[in-house]
Formats: sequence, C-alpha cells, structure tokens
Amino acid sequence: MPAPFRPRSGITHLTSQTSSPIRVRFAPSPTGNLHLGGARTALFNFLFTRHHGGVFLLRIEDTDRERSTDEAIAAILDGMRWLDLTWDEGPIYQTSRLERYRQIAMDLLARGHAYRCSCTPDELEERRKEAQAKGLPPRYDGRCRDRQVSPDMPHVIRFRNPPDQTIAFSDLIRGPLSFDGNLLDDLVILRTDGMPTYNFAVVVDDADMKITHVIRGDDHINNTPRQIAIFRALGADIPSFAHLPMIFGSDRTKLSKRHGATSVMAYRDMGYLPHALANYLVRLGWSHKDQEIFSREELIEFFDLDHVGSSPSVFNPEKLLWLNAHYIKNASDPALAPLACELLPPLQDPLPQSSDPEYRAHAMGLLKGRARTLVELAESALPFLDRALTIDPAAREKALGKDSLSILEPLLTALGSLQEWNAETLKNVFTQIGEAQNRKLGDLAQPIRAALTGKTVSPGIFDVLILLGRDVSLARISAALSDVRKNIQIPSPETPPPRKDHP
Ligand code: GLU
Repeated sequence: MPAPFRPRSGITHLTSQTSSPIRVRFAPSPTGNLHLGGARTALFNFLFTRHHGGVFLLRIEDTDRERSTDEAIAAILDGMRWLDLTWDEGPIYQTSRLERYRQIAMDLLARGHAYRCSCTPDELEERRKEAQAKGLPPRYDGRCRDRQVSPDMPHVIRFRNPPDQTIAFSDLIRGPLSFDGNLLDDLVILRTDGMPTYNFAVVVDDADMKITHVIRGDDHINNTPRQIAIFRALGADIPSFAHLPMIFGSDRTKLSKRHGATSVMAYRDMGYLPHALANYLVRLGWSHKDQEIFSREELIEFFDLDHVGSSPSVFNPEKLLWLNAHYIKNASDPALAPLACELLPPLQDPLPQSSDPEYRAHAMGLLKGRARTLVELAESALPFLDRALTIDPAAREKALGKDSLSILEPLLTALGSLQEWNAETLKNVFTQIGEAQNRKLGDLAQPIRAALTGKTVSPGIFDVLILLGRDVSLARISAALSDVRKNIQIPSPETPPPRKDHP
C-alpha cells in the first residue's frame, strides 16, 4: 500500500541532469479504443520527449491474448496518428518478445530471484478464503518458495520478493513516496502457459528499451514498487516515474461512457479537430500561467512535468467545444474544406461549382465563424453545394410566412433585372426596397436568407447571394415565393384561376 503522500516541494527533477538521452514510451494494452485518458498519457509522453529532444517509443502490450484484438491495435494507431502524436520507435509488440521474457525469467530463476510454484488455482482460492476469514490480506503465502518444484510439473514462476526492503522513489508529480516491501507478495511473472504477466513484461521492456521516464496513469502507482523490486533484481537502471492524476467526469467519478463519448475517434467523427482535442487534453492536468490556447510548437516549448498538478481534473465538454470552435475559426479555409466536406451526406444534385476547391474554401471562409464542429460546418455548407435545398421548419415559420411575400416579390423582380451581380449592385437593390418599404436591411434579409439557405442564420446576405451566384439565388427566391403562396393558398399570377364551369 502506498504511504501517505508528502508535499511536492523539494523534489529534484532528474530530467535535465541525466546524461543518457531521454527515452519514454506509451504502452497501451490493445483491449479497446484509444480513450481520452490514454490519449492524454500519450500526449504528455510525446510533449515531454519532444521538449527534451528525446525518443518516443510506442509499445503495444498485447500479452493478454483473450482481451487484445487487432481492431483495438488499429484503433490505437489510428488515434495516435490522428492526434499527430508521431512516435520514433515501434510499434513494438510484446507478443514478439515472448522468448525474451522467458529467458529473463530463467535467469531470475537461476539467480534465486524467482521460483517455480505448483499451487493450483483451487488451492490458492481456498487459502485466499481462509485468510479472508481470519481478516488477513489475501496474499500468496510463499508455500513453494523453497520447495524445488520440478519443471516437469505444471507451474508458474513467481518473483521472490526480497524481505525487509523499503521501496522509495520520488514521483515527478506526487513527490517522494515510500512503500513497505514486506506487504508485497511473490508475484507471478510467468504463467503456466509461459506468458509473462504485465508487471514483469513491462520491467523487462523498460529495461531493454532503456526507458528513462515512465509517464503513465496513477492507476499504476501500486504496481510501481513491484516493478522497482524487479528492476533491482535485474540489476537494471530504474527509470524516473511520473504518475498522472485521473480524469473525472462532471460528477467527480472516473471518466467513463456514462459521461459521454470517451474514445478519441468518436471525437473525430463528431467533428473535432485533432489539435483542438490535444489542446484540450493537455490542459487536463498541465498548465502554463493562464494560457489556454497553444500551438503545437508552444506546447513542445513549454511542456514540463513540474506543472502537472497532482489532483484529478474534470472533463468539461463545453470547454472542449469552445476550443474546437476557436480552432475551426483559425484554421485555413483550404485545409478546412476537405475535412468538413468529408462529413457531408451524399449530395442529391451537386451544384456545378461545388467540386471546385477554391469555391469550397471560399464557402468555408464565410461559414467557419459560426461552426463549433466540422459537422456543423458541413451542415451549414450544404446549401452552397447541393442544388436541392431543405428549408428548416424554424426558418419557414420565422421568415417565410405571409408577410414575407411583400419582401420576396419586389426583391425577386429587382434582383432579376440586375445587369451586374456584385456587392454594390446587390446592396443598392436592398437599400432602395428598404427605403421604399421603410424596413431595415435585417428585416429584408430574413426571408431571403431562409429562401437561399433554408436557415435562420447564415453569413452576410450579400456574401450568400454572391457565393451562390445569380441563377441559383433567383431560382431559390422564386421557389420560396411559390411555396409561400401555396402555403397561404394565394394563386401565383402565372397560375390560371380554377375553372368555374368545370363540373
Ligand atoms: N499497458 C498498460 C495500460 O494500458 C500501461 C503500462 C504502463 O504504462 O506501464 O494500462
């Protein structure tokens, strides 16, 4: 059990003093998608390495064959690539190193740091129950320690936990910690089927891969003393440890599906930009003065473990949305266009200009200021790409009622007779009609906006008219006008009145 944590003051941070190059690793177990907590761990490792000019290694801890899947491996790699967290070495799969773990286990066995244990799961369970009944901790009682179990019997290999050791280390986030080694039992390092256990494989790898800093979630903090004991037995250098505090949901319980999407790729599908998500994640625990928005270069320049707090942070989807809107607004128009257009439903009747990258980029420039996600951006771009237009019920109700006739009719006539279609000529038409009707530009724009975009909000009306061009604009205003007439059952002038003489 961890000793009570002491304050962080006075910790010596080893990073700048170590002579060997910084080497860190992200070591996910591929049992599911890359989730937000894992992505934050990967990001902190990445930034720490890049800040120090070190090496970032990706290791896939796939020794749990029942729970590891190829889909999860692919999802983790996709998530890392999408977040732009490039690694320098790997992916290294633990399953490709099984021979190495066996070899090290045999070496520990030969040097007396490990022993064979033939206790069966049933026996262990029985003894666990007995201990529990006596109110004792359910630990392995060391029965096979000195039994010389034959290698021909089914057995596991256990680590011989040294007696009377104190395991102390200075966590780079939590400060000095010390553990009573007598509380650790003799851990299984190799199972009956020859597979290594997590705590063993991780140490063999961290030692072989010369990892200098282990930065991981603090759900592993109780594994650290066990791992240090194994490092000692191997005679390997012990890395520095930094355990990141948890991420909570709004109810201050561990972030989980109950709080909404937790997988990184779900955020991609919901229209988040990778650098916006990374910027959000980095602030879950780390701070740099009161700055909220960081370029990747700034993150690499400023990131350090000294400013990672030791208390859990709370995931706030609203803030993430705000950051995403900021990143969208500041993204380049040509870069946004393919990202947003990828999220469009298939176009029913594409406008001829809709496939022109310059036109798409121009549309993004006009629309991006109002979009909080790429999904919203794509949705607002649809009227500019597809001839088929759906009018939102809210826009119909608000702007295309009976009153709109007196706006749509004269505007259609005046716009239809324009020789030139530009900001100046369009503005003149609206000014003249506004003055004649004693209406403000905003009042005139409402029904036109609804007719052109099907929505109650859009970029400036002249920008919309220019972007859509004369033909599409006039066709849409005319269609809206017919619609309004139909809805209020006023025959349009071109429709002949019903014949009275008909039976
Ligand atoms: N494979 C472990 C996990 O996914 C992480 C191991 C480590 O970072 O030491 O939780």
